[in-house]
Amino acid sequence: MSSTIELENKFCAHNYNPLPVVLSRGNGVFVWDENGKKYLDMMSAYSAVSHGHANPRLVEVVKNQVAKLTIVSRAYYTDQLGEFLKLACELTRQDMALPMNTGAEAVETAIKAARKWGYEVKGIETDKAEIIACTGNFHGRTITIIAMSDEPQYQYGFGPYPAGFKLVQYGDAEALEKLITPHTAAFLVEPIQGEGGIVVPPKGYLKTCQEICRKHNVLLIADEIQTGLGRTGSLLACDHENVVPDGLILGKALGGGILPVSMFLSKREVMEVFTPGDHGSTFGGNPLASAVGLEALKILIEEKLPERSKEMGNYLIGKLHGLDSPLISGIRGRGLFVGIEIDPALASAREICEALMERGLLSKETHETVVRLAPPLIIRRDEIDWAVDQISEVLQDMDRIRLAS
Ligand SMILES: *Cc1c(COP(=O)(O)O)cnc(C)c1O
Repeated sequence: MSSTIELENKFCAHNYNPLPVVLSRGNGVFVWDENGKKYLDMMSAYSAVSHGHANPRLVEVVKNQVAKLTIVSRAYYTDQLGEFLKLACELTRQDMALPMNTGAEAVETAIKAARKWGYEVKGIETDKAEIIACTGNFHGRTITIIAMSDEPQYQYGFGPYPAGFKLVQYGDAEALEKLITPHTAAFLVEPIQGEGGIVVPPKGYLKTCQEICRKHNVLLIADEIQTGLGRTGSLLACDHENVVPDGLILGKALGGGILPVSMFLSKREVMEVFTPGDHGSTFGGNPLASAVGLEALKILIEEKLPERSKEMGNYLIGKLHGLDSPLISGIRGRGLFVGIEIDPALASAREICEALMERGLLSKETHETVVRLAPPLIIRRDEIDWAVDQISEVLQDMDRIRLAS
């Protein structure tokens, strides 16, 4: 094993199980390992690198801003934050935004906003507010957020958990309506579940959830940390059903693959529950992050990345459907957000990811049975052709070995 891997394994907590490759450089859709071997990045850091590695426009903005002003905290106004949030609000049809850094912090912000809105605007009895989340959800790793999870491994050993959360079957709008009570402040949902295994709900699900939430005065909050910003072939995954949620959470690609940048956006009525001192973050909305986030949004629009995601995603999914392998039990996805479901009786998604890595294609398994394909949105047709050839050959190899044994 490489000594670099040994070093990391010795000093870094084992809270991940990385593929055995040591990356040292990235450019566009490619990364290189410490020996100079080139890989096509079909994972893009769980969709954080939608703009491609070392995007030249983003690198330029960082260089200028890093020498000018980086961190001052929100104790002061800066010449970067307002422009950034203005564009984010205009593009997502929201009124106001609260900037944070990681996705989990923005989810926590959404929960705080929903609860306080529940008490101050909806009139829910003190400390009785409920938030409904979905089975199979992933919203991050803080204690409060994992309290909403039904994945035993996310929770085991970390209790006790805060109260006030309920779970409803993902994709079942009727069940949502049944679960709502006068104490329900919000329904928190991923338009497509990412970590859950690229799970696409039935057509019209989000729209129906929106109608139900309206009817019962419940906030519809969309966690688009992974699905947002072009990943699924439209700017937001909510746009596919023309749903404007009451609250929206963005992260990952918002930082252009350079910095952690996240935010909670909402209608004015919701965001106005926050007053000075209620909530904050030392780094949230700093000028460097704001400059990067603003440019990341401009690139998405000017370079039509959501449209590219749609076109290339359809192309990729079409080609994957053409693969005739008994190992594949399903192909799901939208835009460049694709999961290949592997029949666990025949192979593990992990083995496939390792074999793809040998061939220079980086992917990552999710939930043992799904190979995730979510490349930078700048990927080209010929690169997809090459990737699908590798996948096809790996599946054929593994099927041959399986039949021989
Ligand atoms: C990644 C992710 C998060 C958490 O983001 P972090 O930056 O890792 O805290 C939350 N929600 C969804 C849907 C995600 O994909």
